[in-house]
Amino acid sequence: MIPSRIGLAGLALMMACAENPTTGEAQTKPSFEKPKLQLPGVYRFDVGDFHMTALSDGTVPQDLPSLLTNTTPEEIDRLLHRAYLTNPVEVSINVFVIEAGPRLVLVDTGAGELLGPGNGGKLVSSLSAAGFRPEQITDILITHAHPDHCGGLVVASNNAFVNATVHIGKPEVDFFLNPANSAATGYDIQFFEQAAKMLKPYVDAGQVSLFTDTAEVVPGITGSVQPGHTPGSAFFIAESQGETITFVGDIVHAGAVQFPKPNVTIVYDVDSNTAAAVREQSFSVFAQQRALVGAPHLPFPGIGHVRAEPEGGFVWVPVEYTNRQVN
Ligand SMILES: [Zn+2]
Repeated sequence: MIPSRIGLAGLALMMACAENPTTGEAQTKPSFEKPKLQLPGVYRFDVGDFHMTALSDGTVPQDLPSLLTNTTPEEIDRLLHRAYLTNPVEVSINVFVIEAGPRLVLVDTGAGELLGPGNGGKLVSSLSAAGFRPEQITDILITHAHPDHCGGLVVASNNAFVNATVHIGKPEVDFFLNPANSAATGYDIQFFEQAAKMLKPYVDAGQVSLFTDTAEVVPGITGSVQPGHTPGSAFFIAESQGETITFVGDIVHAGAVQFPKPNVTIVYDVDSNTAAAVREQSFSVFAQQRALVGAPHLPFPGIGHVRAEPEGGFVWVPVEYTNRQVN
């Protein structure tokens, strides 16, 4: 029992100055003063000759029953329980760096300041911890124009990547840079405003390159438009020495639910039926090809494989953790 008149501060002091019962000498315990945040998230791996780095932009709690659609709160609870999770779940925001020969390529930019203080926005510090400077980035591949993917483009009203070309699907820009599409579709105007705030300064600076369908955007890296979650959502496949990784953008937000049940959709989908079809078909292809996948919202570093289950549905298998010099 803790005597109430001493209080916690007094108790801590007593513990810090406790005597060694054997020697009678005063002993000082370490106070364990330390930062309350995680250290920057940096994870390195290789795909062929391409050195890659996964960077954490942070994590955000997500209330799944209010976000997931084409499901029930009971189904969500059951699947979370199976994965040893409880709502709200902590969703990663992962960004990837590719050293592709002379090019230094970023896949997405995290949330910047758009999700509010404490939610994302760690890209610049993660980049720095990994030994990169924003001005070294030559190309940025935007999987889609949602705030948690393009929000790092402009920070404190300045273009964060002054030397980079931004590659993005043309349908994405056509949709999000025309606010009339909000009224036409009922999709929240805030997404259009945020996308414009991030992309227009790069359009004005002549730093945006658009692609349609499938196109090589950087030597060894191909973008392909996969409409559904948004009209210009894109995959990017990096290939070197016969090895590949496919960066998939938001085909999955809540892995514990959407791998076993790929038909479960999310309120952020512009076209949820097509988004579900893309998810199911992509999971199937990735499983069949044993393809390495990089996903922005699966637990950091968000790299792994998709396995098809005999009874239906899929499982996410994260890569084996490696922590030694590999190149
Ligand atoms: Zn997202």
